[in-house]
Amino acid sequence: MECCPIPESSWDRALRLIGRHDEIGLACHVNPDGDALGSMLAVAFVLRSMGKRVVASFGDRHFAVPRLLGFLPGQEMLVPPEQFPAAPDLMIVFDCSTFERVGLLGANAASAREVIVVDHHPSNTGFGTLDLIDATAAATAMLAEQLVYRLGGRLDRDIATCLYAGLVTDTGSFRYSSVTPAVHQMAARLVATGLRTDEIARELWDRSPFGYLKVLAHALERVTLEGSLVWTYVSRVDRAAYGLPYSELEGIIDIVRRADEAEVAVVLKEDDHGDWQVSTRSKGTVDVAAVCAALGGGGHHNAAGYTSYDTVEETMAKFRRELRRVS
Ligand code: AMP
Ligand code: MN
Ligand code: MN
Repeated sequence: MECCPIPESSWDRALRLIGRHDEIGLACHVNPDGDALGSMLAVAFVLRSMGKRVVASFGDRHFAVPRLLGFLPGQEMLVPPEQFPAAPDLMIVFDCSTFERVGLLGANAASAREVIVVDHHPSNTGFGTLDLIDATAAATAMLAEQLVYRLGGRLDRDIATCLYAGLVTDTGSFRYSSVTPAVHQMAARLVATGLRTDEIARELWDRSPFGYLKVLAHALERVTLEGSLVWTYVSRVDRAAYGLPYSELEGIIDIVRRADEAEVAVVLKEDDHGDWQVSTRSKGTVDVAAVCAALGGGGHHNAAGYTSYDTVEETMAKFRRELRRVS
């Protein structure tokens, strides 16, 4: 295992904190992706095998595991946020760059005695009482793997499935610039447990309800190229016509960002509450994390996001303004 910039003293403190507590609350960011949920569940498995009482959750108003991640093992350890301890002695938070990303469980984190933040976002604000943050890691799952070993755990197929989901989603199937030899070495350790990586890939990327094709068609029909910006949106109404859940929209940005002419791609996705979740991607020259941070979100240099409470037009006007400022 390659060493990381998290100081040994921080890992030691984390192990001491975990050792001292029998009940531990785990949380990951709202609208969880493979890295958030996978990292959390992998650590949950190990803590449970150590005899800890573990609850794991995420702070969405409508608590539901996205269909895409339905194959992840360990979901019996999940509880909805209202069943999460109000003031846990120890809480561990995964893949959250800011306190806001903890969503409804932010109140629990604020009341917790100790909060360990495990994350890889360069923009992480360091909101834990102990921060295990490595911005060079391609996924939080890389830090979760270390935590598994340091807790004395071993990879079994369940843990490896969870960690692989994190690694493969956050690296875009090993395509992004974050991919290092350490990423492939980790993948090799995971695959060696007997993972069916073909089945995982199919679950994550190669299937959708039929309605997805129709909604995608709408989104592509109105896709717009403005100089080096390509963008589109998907409204609640678009989805309602086909009963398509919000979480099915994740892959649209990967299609929109294909446009060679564009340096920056944006997809506005209206969630079930009428708020716009904005996905942004850059090909390298523009730091979309800086743009999104200025608009209340965050992320990585080439992949970032934020929530907008404005209309599509207002959202794009503000985005263009920030984009001009940053470029
Ligand atoms: P997505 O476009 O949802 O795949 O998100 C891309 C990146 O942006 C991820 O690394 C997220 O952590 C970050 N991100 C997305 N939405 C938000 C948000 N509302 N606030 C902060 N960061 C976000
Ligand atoms: Mn994430
Ligand atoms: Mn991540």
